[in-house]
Amino acid sequence: MELTRLRGFRDLIGADARAMSLVEERARALAAGYSMKEVRIPVLERTQLYQRSTGETSDIVEKQMYTFVDRDEGETVVALRPEGTPGVVRAYIEAGLDRADPEQRLFYSGPMFRRERPQKGRYRQFYQFGVEVFGRPDAACDAELLIMIDELCRDLKVPFSMEINSIGDQKCRPAFREALVQWGRAHWGELCDDCHNRIDRNPLRLLDCKIDAKLTESAPKSLDYLCGECRAHFDTVKELLIAANVQFIVNPRMVRGLDYYTRTAFEVMAGGLGAQSTVVAGGRYDGLVETMGGAAVAGIGFAIGIDRMALALQAAGLAPSAAPDAAIIAMGPAATRHAIVVARNLREANLNVEMLSPERKMKTLLARASKIGARAAVIIGDDEIARGVVQVRDLKHSTQREVAVAEAARAIAATGKE
Ligand code: ATP
Ligand code: MG
Repeated sequence: MELTRLRGFRDLIGADARAMSLVEERARALAAGYSMKEVRIPVLERTQLYQRSTGETSDIVEKQMYTFVDRDEGETVVALRPEGTPGVVRAYIEAGLDRADPEQRLFYSGPMFRRERPQKGRYRQFYQFGVEVFGRPDAACDAELLIMIDELCRDLKVPFSMEINSIGDQKCRPAFREALVQWGRAHWGELCDDCHNRIDRNPLRLLDCKIDAKLTESAPKSLDYLCGECRAHFDTVKELLIAANVQFIVNPRMVRGLDYYTRTAFEVMAGGLGAQSTVVAGGRYDGLVETMGGAAVAGIGFAIGIDRMALALQAAGLAPSAAPDAAIIAMGPAATRHAIVVARNLREANLNVEMLSPERKMKTLLARASKIGARAAVIIGDDEIARGVVQVRDLKHSTQREVAVAEAARAIAATGKE
């Protein structure tokens, strides 16, 4: 085949797509329970939006964006969105909410695009479900979002661990930053080339380096540099998590490499994913709305990597099957008319029912019913219609019983048991 999909882009068919939808559905249901409102933002934005917010020194802006000149729009340089936060912040400011009604709890869901090296759990188009809360500088808000993430992972039943840290604020981070620069200079010979660049441009990202991970164990820790207010904020977050019975680990090496991030940073790792194990990442960004031209409003948010969360579900064998409860087999035209009504009634009883083509032989149809994973086959012929019954065949145990039409749903529910 010549016209294949692009590298790093996926087709998700059946079970894979279903696992993704399940994660999204659960996240949506949870967001409703946390009084959050949905925001739908464009997939295409000005490239400048990401340069300004995500930051020139981030991997995303430096090398991962799909960006091009839109000839129709006066040569505007545009980009496929690599993350959701900048667009949500822009929309929030553009709608005037930062001044008129600053306290907002928003969520979004959809595809993101980054030109990364594709590997398991890392794709060029992937999906995020994200939350952004504005106008809430208090630690209770940080805790509430972490509780929400904990609840989602428990609900999905994936094995997970949560790590939190505080990276300080405009007041105390400069000293930490400087300490990192000093440390980096002292270890110059041992650092990788990327880190040599990071020292001056974005020293916090030294701690993010996958190559120098071992070396950074000796690097300064942000927690040792927190000012009194940042320390109190972090202590309250931890206290509230403990009160809510949320398990977490303090990871003093976790950072967010962008200037607008402040205080709380967090990540959630799931089991069964190998190298790409981070399924949720987020943090507080009290400076961002102002940086983007809005009012001085606090912000905090996170994004769930839906693809990775779905992989974790599948790795744990927790992705539910989409197989039908019953396949309906009708023998002949009269039986088809009858069967189509039976199928409809079964669906009204909340069963997943597939009606098979009436134009095939019984043997072929039974094989088909097994192939699609149905637990039961419901067989209807002229004789069954005359007597007001159906044959319910348990495909797992190869047993069959005749029941009244009204009893069919119950008989199907009893099939396939151990
Ligand atoms: P990583 O360190 O894995 O590159 P990141 O710091 O770039 O992650 P964020 O921008 O914080 O990730 O995005 C939040 C979440 O989105 C990640 O934890 C991950 O689950 C998911 N994610 C990010 N990039 C990808 C990708 N290329 N493919 C699939 N999922 C991704
Ligand atoms: Mg990345």
